[in-house]
Amino acid sequence: MDGYPWGDSRRFHSHSRFMQMQFGGRMQRVAIDAGFTCPNRDGSLGTGGCTYCLNAAFNPSYCTPKKSITQQIDDGILFHRNRRREPHGYLAYFQAFSNTYAPISDLKEKFDEALKHPKVQGLVIATRPDCLNEEILDYLESLQQRTYIAIEIGIESCRDATLRRIRRGHDFDCVRRAFAGCHAHHLPAGAHLIFGLPGETPADWLADADILNSLPIQHIKFHQLQIFKGTPMESEYHEHTADFHIFAIDEYVCFIADFLELLNPSIIIDRLAGEVPPRYLAVSHWHNIRYDEIVKSVEAELERRNSWQGKKHDKKSGHF
Ligand code: SF4
Repeated sequence: MDGYPWGDSRRFHSHSRFMQMQFGGRMQRVAIDAGFTCPNRDGSLGTGGCTYCLNAAFNPSYCTPKKSITQQIDDGILFHRNRRREPHGYLAYFQAFSNTYAPISDLKEKFDEALKHPKVQGLVIATRPDCLNEEILDYLESLQQRTYIAIEIGIESCRDATLRRIRRGHDFDCVRRAFAGCHAHHLPAGAHLIFGLPGETPADWLADADILNSLPIQHIKFHQLQIFKGTPMESEYHEHTADFHIFAIDEYVCFIADFLELLNPSIIIDRLAGEVPPRYLAVSHWHNIRYDEIVKSVEAELERRNSWQGKKHDKKSGHF
C-alpha cells in the first residue's frame, strides 16, 4: 500500500520507512559514549549543564568511554541482539554529550574507528547547534561522500526566553544557523525537541510547528518533558510547578496527533516520545507505558480522525 506521500500506509512519515528505502531494512543504532563533553559543562559556557540534562538516563549500561569505541559497538550489538530481532545492519550512534565538540583530529579518530567496524554502515552524530563550525561541516561533508551520516541537533525549544531559562547557552538564531550550515553542506540534519519546558504551553508548541517547517529539517525526535532526579530542573519544578506542563498520556497522544497534522510531511519522524528507566525520574508519569504502545496510540488517534502527518500543513513550505 502506498497511500501517503512517503510511500506506505502508515499515517506519519516513519523513520523505519526511511531506513527501509535507504538501506533495505531495519537499521539498529548502537549508542556510543566517546568521552566528549559539551561547552555547557566544561566551563566554556557553564559548568552546570542545561537544567534538565542527565546523560546517564539515556546511556545504555554497556556504554562508557572507559571502553574503546570498537568494544562499545561489539557490546551494543550483543545488547540489542538479546532484545530485538536481527536488524538489517547497524549505525554507530554518537549520542552522549556533544559529539562535534572536539578538535577535528579527535573527531576523525573516533568516527574512523566506528566506521572501521565491519558491521557499521554509517554514523548518527548528536550535537549542539553551536558546535558545528565551517571546519567541522567541511569534514562531515567529506565523510558523507563515503558513508551514511545523519546529524542530530538539539533544538529543545523555539523560544529564546525558554532557552535562557533552561540554560542552553545559545539562542534560536544559533539553531537556524546550524540547520542552514548543514543544508549548505548537504548534510541531513535532524531536530530534537522537548514538549513541556517551563513557561510554554501546548498552544505555543502548535504555533511553533511552522517555525520547524521553515527549517531544512530532515528528521525529528519529540520528547515529552521528563524531570530527572538530582537536576536543577527538579528543584525548579518543585518551586514553580505551575510553570511546567507534564503531559498525561492520553493528552500527549492527542497533542502529538495535532502536531503531526501541522508538520511538513517531508519531515521524517524519528521518535514520538522519550523513554527512560523509571528510576531516573523525579516526577513519575505514564506508569511504565512502553514506547511501542505510544506509537500505536498515536496511529490509532490519527486513524480515528481520518488524519495524517501534514493534513493541515501549510503547503507553502512543503517539499512534496
Ligand atoms: S543537554 Fe546536551 S548541551 Fe545540555 S548540558 Fe547536557 S550534554 Fe550539554
